[in-house]
Amino acid sequence: MATDRFASAVFDEYLEKAAGHASAYLRTLPDRHVGARASREELLQALSVPLPLKGGEGGEVIDLLAAQVARGAVACNSPRYFGFVIGGAYPVALAADCLVSTWDQNAGIYAISPLVAVVEEVAAQWLLELFDLPRESGVGFVTGCQMANFTCLAAARHGVLRRVGWDVEADGLAGAPRINVIASAESHITIDVAMRYLGLGTRALQRVESDGQGRMRVDALREKIASLQGPTIICAQAGNVNTGACDPLREIGRIANDAGAWLHVDGAFGLWARASDAQRHLADGIELADSWATDAHKWLNVPYDSGVAMVRHAQDHRAAMTSAAAYLIQTQGAERDAVDWVPEFSRRARGVPVYATLRALGREGIADLVARSCARARQMAELLAREPGVRILNEVALNQVLVRFDDDDDTTREVIAGVQADGTCWLGGTNWQGQAAMRISVSNWATTEDDAERSVAAIARVFRSLRKRP
Ligand SMILES: *Cc1c(COP(=O)(O)O)cnc(C)c1O
Repeated sequence: MATDRFASAVFDEYLEKAAGHASAYLRTLPDRHVGARASREELLQALSVPLPLKGGEGGEVIDLLAAQVARGAVACNSPRYFGFVIGGAYPVALAADCLVSTWDQNAGIYAISPLVAVVEEVAAQWLLELFDLPRESGVGFVTGCQMANFTCLAAARHGVLRRVGWDVEADGLAGAPRINVIASAESHITIDVAMRYLGLGTRALQRVESDGQGRMRVDALREKIASLQGPTIICAQAGNVNTGACDPLREIGRIANDAGAWLHVDGAFGLWARASDAQRHLADGIELADSWATDAHKWLNVPYDSGVAMVRHAQDHRAAMTSAAAYLIQTQGAERDAVDWVPEFSRRARGVPVYATLRALGREGIADLVARSCARARQMAELLAREPGVRILNEVALNQVLVRFDDDDDTTREVIAGVQADGTCWLGGTNWQGQAAMRISVSNWATTEDDAERSVAAIARVFRSLRKRP
């Protein structure tokens, strides 16, 4: 009987094996060398065989993979991982994500998974409440902020052209009125990529200067807008990937409204400032925008991959994304079909870990997560600033810190490489306004004061040893 296959011990055996490996991995996180230890060649040696003709035992394959993680993976969910902007999964988020794989639901349409559709409907409302954005907005659960930016800008493209009588979904862009797209010099690269996906082209991006913290300059925006006519989209940002700074969103919102432009905000992590009393003012005015892109796999600490696209004008959002086909059983009532809000057709139920995490943490838990990350960033900046030769390059208002050593590019890069090799923590580098800098991003729920101290001690140790060299 077919059911025997599922009653068999195989699932139990494999899942227990996987759970064992998972717990063992998680237990190593607080103390393991944070960086990877194996080269591509070493990993290939362990993993690369000719495609097997006859398969092997599944449990052995699981063991084999698990055996490589200690040296092959960077522990980017370690509490002392400060690279890029990366969270580590909360226990409840990880557990919910395991259920998502187990249930194996195609979350594209309601008819395939009423459960997931309703979970995502509720999670969508919670997010709008948490960020205090218009409750009637459209919401799509996508893979990350790249696709959230794409989805929002597709809605924007539809919206601004609809208002001048052009149906871009039916007629495309050939012959369409030209769309002006404005972004600051500091917009994230995923805005450029979205421009490519949307057929608008990166050269169409009109750049507006930014200030010393990477914030869009309002005077430059005013000047730019005054020189333009026709459909216009402004891309602003909450959370500069280097400094964490947010654009002056209230002023930009007023300018956009006055000009009849669509305002999009890339708030990959900065939007989460709205969840905390102490940080909310940084994203003040963000509610004036027409669309918002954010990540859940960064600051909400759900497993990869998870982003959210939100659009004030739900009809524009839906028109840009919806798919209809004769065989699709689309809902007639209030039921929610995810295909109407995201670029994917078949998709993973990635709203489920978002629901679980929001429900388990509550408003206070999320506020605390945001405030704690910012406090750890401040702590690291303050400790580092005491060290002779160390300079903090940004105003540490959110969770990002930029550090420079001996005011020298080479020294700064050597410290970064030395810290990566040391393994106490992991962080990367950047070029901030012409100068090499170390980037510290605190986005993990598990990072403690002690982790911050240990990491600063490691950074200082590496720097001092470089300075002592003859
Ligand atoms: C991380 C980030 C993105 C891209 O998000 P992904 O989740 O990697 O797709 C876009 N914008 C900003 C400001 C970011 O920090």
